[in-house]
Amino acid sequence: MTDTTARGNNFVAKIVEEDLASGKTEKVVMRFPPEPNGFLHVGHAKSICLNFGVAQQFGGECNLRFDDTNPEKESQEFIEAIKADVTWLGFEWAGDIRYASDYFDQLFEWAVCLIKSGNAYVCDLSPEEARAYRGTLTEPGKNSPYRERSVEENLELFERMRSGEFDEGACVLRAKIDMASSNMNLRDPIIYRIRKVTHHQTGDKWCIYPTYDFTHGQSDAIEGVTHSVCTLEFEDHRPLYEWFVANLPVPVEPRQYEFGRLNLDYTLTSKRKLKSLVDEEIVAGWDDPRMPTISGMRRRGFTPSSIRTFCDMIGVTRSDGMVDIAMLEHAVRDDLNRNAPRAMCVINPLKVVIENLPEDHLEMLSAPFHPELDLGSREMPFTREIMIDQGDFKEEYSKKFKKKFTPGKRIRLRQGYVIEAVDYDKDEQGNVTQVRARLVENTLGCDPEDGDKPKGVVHWVSASHGKEAELRMYQRLFLDPTPDRSGDDYREFLNPESLVIKQGWVEPALAGVEAETRFQFEREGYFVSDRFDHMAEKPVFNLTIGLREDKSLTRS
Ligand code: ATP
Ligand code: MG
Repeated sequence: MTDTTARGNNFVAKIVEEDLASGKTEKVVMRFPPEPNGFLHVGHAKSICLNFGVAQQFGGECNLRFDDTNPEKESQEFIEAIKADVTWLGFEWAGDIRYASDYFDQLFEWAVCLIKSGNAYVCDLSPEEARAYRGTLTEPGKNSPYRERSVEENLELFERMRSGEFDEGACVLRAKIDMASSNMNLRDPIIYRIRKVTHHQTGDKWCIYPTYDFTHGQSDAIEGVTHSVCTLEFEDHRPLYEWFVANLPVPVEPRQYEFGRLNLDYTLTSKRKLKSLVDEEIVAGWDDPRMPTISGMRRRGFTPSSIRTFCDMIGVTRSDGMVDIAMLEHAVRDDLNRNAPRAMCVINPLKVVIENLPEDHLEMLSAPFHPELDLGSREMPFTREIMIDQGDFKEEYSKKFKKKFTPGKRIRLRQGYVIEAVDYDKDEQGNVTQVRARLVENTLGCDPEDGDKPKGVVHWVSASHGKEAELRMYQRLFLDPTPDRSGDDYREFLNPESLVIKQGWVEPALAGVEAETRFQFEREGYFVSDRFDHMAEKPVFNLTIGLREDKSLTRS
């Protein structure tokens, strides 16, 4: 397993440590329990790092369990995506994939147990009636008129629910707890519903499905989970979790602990809203590089280790908070700065003709891929016609632009020679179409002999040997720091420039790289060859992130 650098100073780790020390826990067993109703997002990454990380830190295990009690919204596509995401993040689940649906037989039996012990009943109230009986936060609820059905009647009705005799919504099975409880979750919660839908794992075997609350703790118990960690919105469900565990003959008694979910500014972390972006084709899919999904971040070029580092940085607390997205961006940039090979790509190309070189001049210049790490080197063809960035040329010299290429002035080509601009050509609209220049001889790796040193260094690519590449320039999807603040307004905050496609030029050595190869394109930013669309004949690179936090460097 990848070293996931768990720090172990979060409160969950402390609890586990104490339980191991006191002997309460022999071996820690955790689980990550996604519902397969969408792709995982950066918030789930926090949960994954916590669950797998703590288990790993204390020599325990972590299961991957699909919490699949809602067949209408779930699919095999999501299951496959989630498995791939967890693996990509660097974690290994213990044994086989688990499904809550693996336990449907056992859960059915346990529901029967509750009926037999007088702790559950079939209720025929309509959803509207049930709502009225439920009471409010300030008023107690009322007992359902079906609450005192006999055990025999309940057993018979529950069996008939299971055999498909009743329509959806006709009745439900409820736990008999306390309609006057100050905790609404204990007011005779529903434990089974009729749903006449095919399930992606169990097919048409069932037409009744257990609720999340009736499934979760018991699944934990079946798997021998010792510490069941979830987000704070389940805090009020904990008494119910404990009630089921206490009232059923479960093999072990797991405990639930809650932590604060991750909210990230400029970002949506609601699966429902992310799904709407996909369904409304606002983005190109769940793995669109602008999405905060793990697959989206992967396609954008984020590294698994940078996401794990980010999760370490933000820590785990017992309260919800908002995290600055700059922290995530910093983690990515820092990792790429240290590890990504360097290469050259010209995003807004301007041709330079070096007139004192012969037409067929071809010289291979060797350059290391990284200034410090030993990542090898590549050969860069140097030819009479090259591309530089439009922004590096100025028609007239000024002090402000003294590092720019301008007639009569010199510039160093990165990893190459010094050249001097002679003149330039323009089209009818007044755009500079090409610069004419001359090579200053004997300047490879040394200063010009005449002492006239260039002030600036520019990146460049051979015009005749370089490759045209599609550059997908990504920026934040939302312009507002809190797109999630109210209802469904988030569409109003979309950044119209979140994707700008450019045709640039890359070194020939880059065309043939495999998909998902990351680079620092010098002076431009960090890029990755697209996971799906990059091909040697048609290179496609995605902008992961600019070189510095300054957004003007993420050119658009
Ligand atoms: P949503 O509410 O967006 O539909 P969910 O939280 O219901 O998503 P699940 O698939 O049930 O999604 O989540 C699996 C696990 O990930 C749960 O334990 C959940 O608490 C955790 N999780 C989900 N979102 C976050 C988040 N933003 N931060 C931390 N953990 C999260
Ligand atoms: Mg959920």
